[in-house]
Amino acid sequence: MAKSRREFLKGGAALAASAVTMRRARGLVGAGAAAPHPAAAAPEFKQFEYADVQLLDGPMLDQFRQNHALFLGLNEDSLLKPFRQLAGMPAPGEDMGGWYSPSSKFDPPKNMTGYVPGHTFGQYMSGLSRAYAVTGDKPTQQKVQRLVSGFASTVTPKFYDGYCLPAYTFDKTNCGLIDAHQFAKDPTALAVLNKATDAVLPWLPEKALDRREMAARPHPNVAYTWDESYTLPENFYLAYQRGAGARFRQLAQRFLQDDTYFNALAENQNVLPGQHAYSHVNAFCSAMQCYLVDGSEKHLRAARNGFDFVREQSFATGGWGPDESFRHPGTDEIANALAKSHNSFETPCGAYGHFKIARYLMRVTGESTYGDGMDAILYNTILGARPIRPDGVSFYYADYNRDAKKVDYEQKWPCCSGTFPQLTADYGISSYLRSQKGIAVNLYVPSKITWRQGHAHVSMTQETRYPDVGETSLSLKMDRSERFLLSLRVPEWSGPDTAVMVNGKKSDVKIEPGTWAEIDRTWKDGDRVELSLDMPLRLVPLDGGHPNLIALVRGPVALFAIEPGERKMTRENLLAAERVGTSADWQVKTDQGMVSMKSYPAITTETYRLYQEV
Ligand SMILES: [Zn+2]
Repeated sequence: MAKSRREFLKGGAALAASAVTMRRARGLVGAGAAAPHPAAAAPEFKQFEYADVQLLDGPMLDQFRQNHALFLGLNEDSLLKPFRQLAGMPAPGEDMGGWYSPSSKFDPPKNMTGYVPGHTFGQYMSGLSRAYAVTGDKPTQQKVQRLVSGFASTVTPKFYDGYCLPAYTFDKTNCGLIDAHQFAKDPTALAVLNKATDAVLPWLPEKALDRREMAARPHPNVAYTWDESYTLPENFYLAYQRGAGARFRQLAQRFLQDDTYFNALAENQNVLPGQHAYSHVNAFCSAMQCYLVDGSEKHLRAARNGFDFVREQSFATGGWGPDESFRHPGTDEIANALAKSHNSFETPCGAYGHFKIARYLMRVTGESTYGDGMDAILYNTILGARPIRPDGVSFYYADYNRDAKKVDYEQKWPCCSGTFPQLTADYGISSYLRSQKGIAVNLYVPSKITWRQGHAHVSMTQETRYPDVGETSLSLKMDRSERFLLSLRVPEWSGPDTAVMVNGKKSDVKIEPGTWAEIDRTWKDGDRVELSLDMPLRLVPLDGGHPNLIALVRGPVALFAIEPGERKMTRENLLAAERVGTSADWQVKTDQGMVSMKSYPAITTETYRLYQEV
């Protein structure tokens, strides 16, 4: 018998979450280990289908459409060219270049041209398959099906001969094929996956290996030590569940990174420092699939504890992993990394990984604070990413150095060009979750969701200018009245004036920051709910050891100082920041004049600073 969310929260999850919060409040972030998590009950939430949620006009819909159009328009011969070349087949079409096309210039780590030919092909197919599931656009489905059949004729073990990262690229290929099957209804994709799996198996290690283990083995060059066999289980488990065959479950189990990662994390030991950031967050999704498919409580504990360690060493933006690696808590490592480097957060990949693991953990635990992190990542990182250009020039790192700039990555078609279209296609399913008794609104974004509740067909339209303002309205269309629970995420930072109105009257629903406001009533056609989130300004230190390196944050939005130069700000200056008219920009008055403050998406070419020394 599944415990209710309330009982579950009482049972310790809420305590663990608030322990993190309390340490943050006390400025001890990163100074200690998270409280261990208890075993979980049955999943609290389910994911909606892609077609159930439609984004309405806003920056998220813009990004989704941009990525959809770009990948729909890409030349198919160019996309297939590396596979044809490495299989010794005729390979017409232009080279895409950058990481994507084989090149004799490849000389890691100095020259990354030709690094991982064809690596993102599967992610582009995945992004298009999900975009088809969202839109029902036939040309998108047809393109996916042509790519699957074009790819099928190239499959050979020869592709991986002399290939630095076979697991890395195959994992994305796997994802593309299972998404082509599941979302683009390609009838051949699982057969192609079986063939592609036969082709890669001789090149995979006997078990998941981390970088240290790979470095201890013979390797022709350093890039061979960067393969990510530990991310394979998630898509192997999904392949198994989608009908690819029993061997995919066994392969998933074989590549669980238990020895060096999950066993320790399950015991609440922080083994993240030194590990590659995005891929090790992505690996938590493998642990979650192991829990969901094989029922392994150990792997659930590993994912929860591990993600808590990530949250504890996150920036005020929600991003993490400067120079793509995790650091030792309670040291100067993060501050030093920010001083030296401009590669502060691997944005599209990091945001994609963060959304994915947060959705898994939210589904299983029901905890709303995972959504707070998605909220921050959305408005402070990915919505400020520059669009991928048709020639493959892409955004990669967000910069939190004291003299920061927004720049594109030096190589075309990097990893981040693969995760970006997947993430934007997932915006809708990330915004709402299906609960046992109704629906939970996770993200406040202009959108419309349609579902069946009991005997009623319900559609709910969400209108909002959040996070510029704290107000969001939800209006219901129903073909008959029905009782259900409408849960609204109340972020941990919400102030005391947060309120919910139902049909114009203040509701007495319990509002507790860091939980869900749950409205349980019989809903009828035309009902309207208004949420007003109180978004006070607050100061967030870099970490426990650096209480004087402060970011100004309002609601989910970190405010960056624009061209601050040497002007000094105090805590009082920052907390007295004022909005410029009705715009989304703010300004801080200092003894040396005004400093303009902007959100990350509003920054274009200016020099900016996230952390102010006070
Ligand atoms: Zn990336």
